[in-house]
Amino acid sequence: MAINDAVHWSADLGEGTTVALIQAGTFRSDAGALFGPVPRLLWDRLVSEEIDHEHRLLQALNCLLVETPAGRVLIETGIGERVTDKVRDMRGYMGTPIVPALQAAGFEPGSVDVVAMSHLHFDHAGGLLRTDGSRAFPRARIVAQRAEWEVALDDNSRIVASYDQPEIRLVREWGAGAWADGEVEILAGVSVIPTGGHSMGHQAIVVRGTGPTARTLAFFGDLCMRPWSANPRWITSFDDFPLDSVEVKGGLFARAAADGWIVALSHELLRPVGHLVSDRDRYRFEPA
Ligand SMILES: [Zn+2]
Repeated sequence: MAINDAVHWSADLGEGTTVALIQAGTFRSDAGALFGPVPRLLWDRLVSEEIDHEHRLLQALNCLLVETPAGRVLIETGIGERVTDKVRDMRGYMGTPIVPALQAAGFEPGSVDVVAMSHLHFDHAGGLLRTDGSRAFPRARIVAQRAEWEVALDDNSRIVASYDQPEIRLVREWGAGAWADGEVEILAGVSVIPTGGHSMGHQAIVVRGTGPTARTLAFFGDLCMRPWSANPRWITSFDDFPLDSVEVKGGLFARAAADGWIVALSHELLRPVGHLVSDRDRYRFEPA
């Protein structure tokens, strides 16, 4: 069973391209860190339902399975199976990891052709390996930006805290086989666009359907985690390059709003898919 049947969502983007939301569990993150410099007075009421006694928010691990005539793409892999009880407890990690979640939704991991990750933080790249260390997606190329693979193993102490480096080392060679340098169409209709901001090599993933009913879906990774991320100035403390985040969000969100792109949020649990609507000097996320 998927962790929450009520949020099951899928859409036809036109002529054989479909997208399904697969949630790979939930974890908890410090609320203040998620809101960065935004005063608590402004965000308190947005999270009163979900904040726990340790002042943490509930973060879903949203993944997307994209079916195209050219093949299957999985976007993100969540935290995965390779966590100790101590880490599981510390992160408040619960629910079904990506492999059984995909299987419950009717997709065999062995049928995935490409895995695209917005970046390589533990909650996005953790699902690449099974518990026994084997590749979770044995046939797939895995695509993150080359800059992200490089920075992930940096010895800066802040970087060391954000990435699970022993795990990254185990998949680095796999990643080097298909890493992207800049904007690349990884499969017909599916493109990765470097954004930076949240991490050095962070990227957005855009899926374009074709034909008379063609629609476009954008996954902006952790530049657009939750509905309030629609304000380009609301940046988390986890963003390594916040000024870049503000600038790139402004540009991408303007395109998404003007062209009516479907937008899927990376960490929203209940209604994570919708549209961005222009609202004064910012944008507003409207769930579908
Ligand atoms: Zn994340």
